[in-house]
Amino acid sequence: KAKEEGRNTFLFYSSELTSQAFEYVLLKSALKKALDKEELFLVYQPQILLEDESLIGMETLLRWKHSELGMVSPARFIPIAEQSGLIRQIGQWVLEKACAQGQLWLEQGLLVGRIAVNVSGPQFHADSFVEEVRLALHSSGLPAAHLELEVTESFFVQQTDTIIAKLETLRKMGIKFSVDDFGTGYSSLSYLKKLPIDKLKIDQSFLHGIPEDRDNVAITESIIALGQALNLSVIAEGVETHEQASFLKQYAKLEAQGYLFSKPLEVADIEQFMRQASDR
Ligand code: C2E
Ligand code: MG
Ligand code: MG
Ligand code: MG
Repeated sequence: KAKEEGRNTFLFYSSELTSQAFEYVLLKSALKKALDKEELFLVYQPQILLEDESLIGMETLLRWKHSELGMVSPARFIPIAEQSGLIRQIGQWVLEKACAQGQLWLEQGLLVGRIAVNVSGPQFHADSFVEEVRLALHSSGLPAAHLELEVTESFFVQQTDTIIAKLETLRKMGIKFSVDDFGTGYSSLSYLKKLPIDKLKIDQSFLHGIPEDRDNVAITESIIALGQALNLSVIAEGVETHEQASFLKQYAKLEAQGYLFSKPLEVADIEQFMRQASDR
């Protein structure tokens, strides 16, 4: 009885702990072990050119399958990885794994365009970042021209020489940079003029309700116009419906990514997708 009460007391107090703090501690310690336990893996989502629906590349997305918790969403574990500093090691693993996979597909004649990899702030801002990217390319053999790095506006809140130099070094190697979740950050637009970037990824929240939602149509059209004016590529994220796609199709060279074309797929399935795309 006492034991039972003890257990209940523990449960009582643990549920009283701010659940966020508890979750942080729990997931952080599990995440620490995830790499060694091979619980992390990558999925890939196709990116297409709207006007002819041709495949132009794909985005690498990280997945975590914990033995007891099951699938843990990146929306939950990426912030924890960032706060704890684990993201540097995890991010490097993603980069190396994605480059190795890209090179394999290149050898098999399957890779079209670029393989995009999400990069976190703490990863990008580390002094060793350029060397880490070089290492991933070198050890995999993937030509830099097939790699794209996704960063966010928050990276550019401060426009320091170090940040610009880093971008320039990597771009000179042939790597392209896209700005993820564009329009949701807090930075000023002036960075677009100064920073060497290549592509804007319209945040999926702006795609909701298009073409009926007037506000989202206005925002989406402004981003497309901004991209065109600044000579940047533009891709719409989170395209789910034919209505969205046919609305977006009226803009020349606009790219898209979303469930309408494909969900993020595991290796075998994305390979099948790439084969079908090359048969078309
Ligand atoms: P993100 O980079 O903006 O990735 C797009 C997210 O939208 C992905 O969620 C993707 O699965 C989802 N998505 C794609 N198409 C659709 C659609 O049509 N509708 C809807 N509703 N969602 C769609 P996911 O995979 O859960 O990733 C969430 C975020 O976690 C990513 O947002 C990215 O910020 C981060 N993340 C994922 N993998 C990595 C990684 O390897 N490194 C880092 N640093 N962050 C990552
Ligand atoms: Mg992304
Ligand atoms: Mg993102
Ligand atoms: Mg995004």
